[in-house]
Amino acid sequence: MSARTGNDPAMWSRLVGQETAVRILRDAVASGAPGHAYLFVGPQGVGRELAAMALAASLNCPDGGCGECDVCARVLRRSHPDVYTIAPEGAQILVDQVRAVRENAYLSPYEGRVKVFLFEDAHRLNPAASNALLKVLEEPPGDVVFILVTESPEDLLPTVVSRCRRVDFFPLGPAEIERVLVTQHDADPALASWAARTGGDLSTALRFVKDPGAPDRRRAHLDIPGRLVRNGPSESVRIAAELAGEAAAAVSALTKRQKDELARHLEAFGDARATGAARKRVEDRHKREARRVETEVYDSALRDVASFYRDVLLAGAGVPDDALVNTEMAERLRRAAAVADPAWLVGALERIEDTRRALARNVQAVLALEAIFMELGTPRARAGAR
Ligand SMILES: [Zn+2]
Repeated sequence: MSARTGNDPAMWSRLVGQETAVRILRDAVASGAPGHAYLFVGPQGVGRELAAMALAASLNCPDGGCGECDVCARVLRRSHPDVYTIAPEGAQILVDQVRAVRENAYLSPYEGRVKVFLFEDAHRLNPAASNALLKVLEEPPGDVVFILVTESPEDLLPTVVSRCRRVDFFPLGPAEIERVLVTQHDADPALASWAARTGGDLSTALRFVKDPGAPDRRRAHLDIPGRLVRNGPSESVRIAAELAGEAAAAVSALTKRQKDELARHLEAFGDARATGAARKRVEDRHKREARRVETEVYDSALRDVASFYRDVLLAGAGVPDDALVNTEMAERLRRAAAVADPAWLVGALERIEDTRRALARNVQAVLALEAIFMELGTPRARAGAR
């Protein structure tokens, strides 16, 4: 292996298909004067957070982001004490969260050179939080980089946007996703090919290859329209209960991993002065992760069901099999398309979207799922998925 140098691309080479973003950020690091605030714009699952971590590692690793040292490893695990993630509490990023960031930002780094604050879903900054953040961006402390990640910059305060350097990220194609899965995650090539095609984005595809139960769960989700046709609306209660069980299992697996991480994290600080606050910070993040994992289970089930109806719609419009998402069930989709009402399918897809948005706002998940499946299973709907 060649010797590592100060401008080693190891952290950056993990980012596939985002050459422009990587060039902008690496140049900024190389210049020795990176911006105080960045706006990372692009859809989820294309590497925005990974780029943020690569930037944080480049600024703090003694070798400029070698990807192998303890600093890089902890940044990637999100357990470095100078790299902070701010995520929405429920549907919004609240002013109290930004006030805590503001206080923290003016303190010197705990052990590294540069503090990094990553705002996930920055468009969820509420107005008070946006104004609080604007004050910091107007007089940015030294040795601090703010990274705002969003898919909809138009929902941010224009004055906040104007204080940030914008970096765009673009959707990955199936071939790029497949390459990442095989080269960076040691995925089996056949599984990677399937996951890249059906996952739609990198993070979903990655979940498919990391989690051996994922393909079976996806098949179960794709069977939901058929069950509703066969058994009618009463099936909706059973389906919602099954998904709740799936979510509970995902959260319990996560809790186990979180316990390990908390132990590692407290060890990393190794300083009684910081332990209380650090512990609280990790525990808060763990709570948010658990909520997110639960929501993600429901969201992925609804996306799968939507992909079925969308395929039926496309099959009805006469597109070739390889243009469908669920090519492996093309014959069944064509049978469904022969009796489906396109207007109903369009309405069903809209209602599924509404439910996904409602779930993201923390509505009562099981009730919302029962309601949508009830609706999709009513007799008028049955023609949609025979
Ligand atoms: Zn390193």
